[in-house]
Amino acid sequence: MQFSRLASYLNSLEETSSRNAITEILATLFAEAEADEIGKLCYLLQGRVCPLYEAIEFGVAEKFIFRAIASAYATDPDEVANQFKKLGDIGKAAETLHSGRASDMHVSEVFVRLYDLATTGGVGSQERKIGQLADVLKRVNAMSSRYIVRIPLDKLRLGFSEMTILDSLSWMLAGNKSLRPRLEEVYNVRPDIGFIAETVKREGIKGLSHVRARVGSPVLSQLSQRLPTADEMIEKMGTVAVEPKYDGVRVELHFKRGKWVRTFSRNLEDTTAMFPELSEVGKEIHADEVILDGEAVGLDPATGKTVSFQETTTRKRKHNIELFSKSVPLKFFIFDILYKNGEDLLEVPLSERRKILEATVKPGTLLAVTPQMVTDSAQKLRQYHDDQLKKGLEGAMVKKWDSPYEPGRRGFSWVKFKEEEGKTGKLTDTIDAVVMGYYAGEGKRTSFGIGALLVGVRTGEQFVTVTKIGTGVSDDLWKELKKKLHAIHTREMPSAYTKVNKALIPDVWVSPQVVVELAGDDLTKSPNHGAGYAVRFPRLVKIRTDKTPAQVTTVKELTQMFDNQMNHTKK
Ligand code: AMP
Repeated sequence: MQFSRLASYLNSLEETSSRNAITEILATLFAEAEADEIGKLCYLLQGRVCPLYEAIEFGVAEKFIFRAIASAYATDPDEVANQFKKLGDIGKAAETLHSGRASDMHVSEVFVRLYDLATTGGVGSQERKIGQLADVLKRVNAMSSRYIVRIPLDKLRLGFSEMTILDSLSWMLAGNKSLRPRLEEVYNVRPDIGFIAETVKREGIKGLSHVRARVGSPVLSQLSQRLPTADEMIEKMGTVAVEPKYDGVRVELHFKRGKWVRTFSRNLEDTTAMFPELSEVGKEIHADEVILDGEAVGLDPATGKTVSFQETTTRKRKHNIELFSKSVPLKFFIFDILYKNGEDLLEVPLSERRKILEATVKPGTLLAVTPQMVTDSAQKLRQYHDDQLKKGLEGAMVKKWDSPYEPGRRGFSWVKFKEEEGKTGKLTDTIDAVVMGYYAGEGKRTSFGIGALLVGVRTGEQFVTVTKIGTGVSDDLWKELKKKLHAIHTREMPSAYTKVNKALIPDVWVSPQVVVELAGDDLTKSPNHGAGYAVRFPRLVKIRTDKTPAQVTTVKELTQMFDNQMNHTKK
């Protein structure tokens, strides 16, 4: 496919807001693509040149793009900057300055050039890279230049996710969305949209039957549900394993002896650079290849106690990792094994996986096997949970003993047991919400320029408001929030937001990127909020840097929390 053809599809996608229409446009594009280019198309549609989990980023600044455009279209970078200022969009600026000469390149060739751009480094690479991009820009038509320059700056943002791409692949294969569940199931084991597209293009949906977990490619983390009481847990789950719930960061550890160790977060980010100490982990593993699932927690060397999530994540600020790893050494509490020596273990029941895990992990300074108790007694479960709270932990994780590992699924095989029971009529769990906008501060906070947040929960791929929140936030946190949010402010309400009541319109809209955890007294039904519920006395608990907007609480979960709360009130 020529890039100009792709550009006209991108143009239609940009002008379309209906999800169904987008799905159909993409399906037509995919039907038209050749098998050896569909994968590349899928990455390009996400503004990337590789799967989301590969840590390949362009890392170029606006100025770089200004210079490439200037060199391609025989103008100077200041003129590009002027056009950019005037038009408010780098893509439109390139298109306007394009010489108008009609020419074209193959999509695969543009892809390779962009891939090189993202992966070339070294001395003098900047100038070389500017030259490479300019060369591509010279050889494509005006509309293509609009999209090509947006990609390295991460400004392509077509407003749909990989889930929409899965819908479109189903549409391409079956003319409807019926294959989406199967495609998603495979995506959860191998979240590489390009690989999936290419496989089904060549072999049809059957081609996916041989996809297995593979070391080096993250498996989506299994997630947990909520149930209000220990009795309901035993009733629904039967025999369970119960473990401490640590307040750290989720780590999926991939190990290949003699080659590498890599880690992924539950957002599929490559987090290897955060954990330099893991280069020694081979000593504590009895296997040549494994994928382990666990939680990394800081240990205070003075007391041997685990330290808070906030302290653990300060590591995320990459500088100082070395220093930090000395003052707060990390312990990786491993609770699952997904793959060992070429064998995918996802279908193996937890009871068996645990045996394999115990035979594989040799606990040492880095790794520990998460302690657990197996029981079918609600009373013992409750006791175990209470003991965890007494130890200062968050609560317990309850896991169905005969269940397979369910990648990416939030089912009743894992249930979190967080709050003490007996708080009848109260909200027993926190809510993860996305910040949709903020209000200028009043009183003392006028000087911060921010005094309250408008936050929302998810419904499908959209967000609806659930509360305004102005308490629980320290002065320092307000300043940090202001900086974070100002950087992502938008002129208009982002298209992912829906049903926002006029009275709630914030002073500043922000694009859905920052996730916060909030607690409240209870949920009430509310006509003012798009979620249909409001949180009473909301308080900010923390910013969740480990969660993406796609992972915030959903309206469906709120309904369940509301029902749980009502059941308690009745009892
Ligand atoms: P939440 O983030 O509140 O939905 O709780 C689920 C998270 O708890 C998981 O993603 C893990 O990061 C964390 N966690 C802590 N301890 C465990 C454990 N023993 N088993 C599974 N997840 C755990």
